[in-house]
Parts: sequence; structure tokens; C-alpha cells
Amino acid sequence: MRELASGRHHRPAESSSSASTIAVVRSAAERREQLKAVYEEARECMRCPLHQTRTNVVFGAGNADADLMFIGEAPGATEDRIGLPFVGQAGKLLEKLLGEIGMERKQVWITNVLRCRPPDNRDPHPNEIEACNDYLDRTIDLIEPTVICTLGNFSTKLLRGDTTGISHLHGTEEVRVVGPRAVRLYPLYHPAAALYTPSMLETLRADFNRIPELLALGPPEQPRPLEPVPAVEELEDDVEELPAVGDPAPQLGLF
Ligand code: URA
Repeated sequence: MRELASGRHHRPAESSSSASTIAVVRSAAERREQLKAVYEEARECMRCPLHQTRTNVVFGAGNADADLMFIGEAPGATEDRIGLPFVGQAGKLLEKLLGEIGMERKQVWITNVLRCRPPDNRDPHPNEIEACNDYLDRTIDLIEPTVICTLGNFSTKLLRGDTTGISHLHGTEEVRVVGPRAVRLYPLYHPAAALYTPSMLETLRADFNRIPELLALGPPEQPRPLEPVPAVEELEDDVEELPAVGDPAPQLGLF
């Protein structure tokens, strides 16, 4: 897994103007600590009515520095009771398919569009998806996955921002910007749907088998941060404006 030097900055390879941009490189430990803070916030979340009926917030689980992330729909009854994603039958199938490509659950990050169970496992409502989306974006930003597998229609439509259904998209990878990051988006059938339909299971398995190949491509080129940072020559005239050592770098205010 990647381990990046703490607090260093790197400049994109090419720079089109004197005012170029620099990206913050955060260590895995820093990103993990920040993810814990997002988790603590989500645990108290009352942004949508689902907080009234949940037993536990199901934030996500796995490796906080994972290259591979799975995004399902919403916690079911077992997940709500235990507080972890994909721990029922669909989760067992997910683990089995991971095993078939030589991976374990603890190597990946697993989460959902929603962090709270909709009553009676009904479909997520638009206001719930919108309220929860910020947690998902921040999770993706902090884990920095290379490949995101959306499981089923809800996460696929949310991350692609259009209504094309999973039966058209499964097994087709594309580079998409999700929140502040570019990722290799790879929609898959939801394992719960594949549990009872053998032909869908075989399609899911065939699509799963391409995950190692996508991971091997490495991360796609990242979009430039929005905040321009003056070129060094421009800063030299204005030294007293520079932040002191130990001050937060200005470009940390990305969120
Ligand atoms: N189905 C999902 O979409 N998510 C879970 O966590 C469990 C089942």
C-alpha cells in the first residue's frame, strides 16, 4: 500500500502559467486520523430522518489506505445491528469473490451510499442520499482509492451523476472525478442481486476477475487543486506574507 511522506508538497509535472498549483501529499497515518474524525462526526449524524430509526451508523470498514473501494446501497438489518457494512449474505458473497481474485476484505474499504438503514430495507430517498453524500466524498478523498467498484444502481448512478442503469454499465471501467479525486470507476452488479440469479452471479464473477488488471493500472491523473499558488519568483517579493513553518499550508483549505 502507498505510504506518502508527511507534510510534503508536490508540484504537477507540467505547469501552464507562472501561478501554478501544488497538491498536498498527506501520509496514510494523517489520512487515517482524519477519517476517524469523519467517523466520529457521522456517528452523531442527524442530517436526515434515518437517524430516528437506526440502531448503528454504518460508516464503512476495512483498510483506510485501500487502493480498492466498494460502495453498496445502504445497510440492511444485520449491518444496522452490528454497525459494519456487508456482513450478511451479500457480504459473504463479496468476500468469496474477493478471495477468488486473491484478496481479503481487510485489504479493501467497503461502504455504502447511505450510512443508516432505511426502514424495511426500502430504497434510499433523494434527501437521504444528498444528506449522506458529503461523508462519502470525504471518505473517498481521505482513502485515495485507485479503483472504486459501485455495487448496483444506487451507487453507480450517484457517482456517475446520471441515470444509466447497472445492466448497461457493469464491467465497463472509466475515469471519473468523484469529489476532489479522479478514480477508476468500475460498476458491478450488487452481490445481493447475484445471490439468487446464477447468470448474474457468473457475470459478476467475470467482472470481478478484471479488478486486478484495473488496480495494476495505478491511479489516474489527478485534477489540479482549485486554489492557485503564486510561483516562487512572485513570492520572493512578498516574503513576509509566507506562512511560518508549522502554520497550516494555505492549500489545505480545500474543503
Ligand atoms: N447491501 C448493501 O448495499 N450494503 C450493505 O452494507 C449490505 C447489504
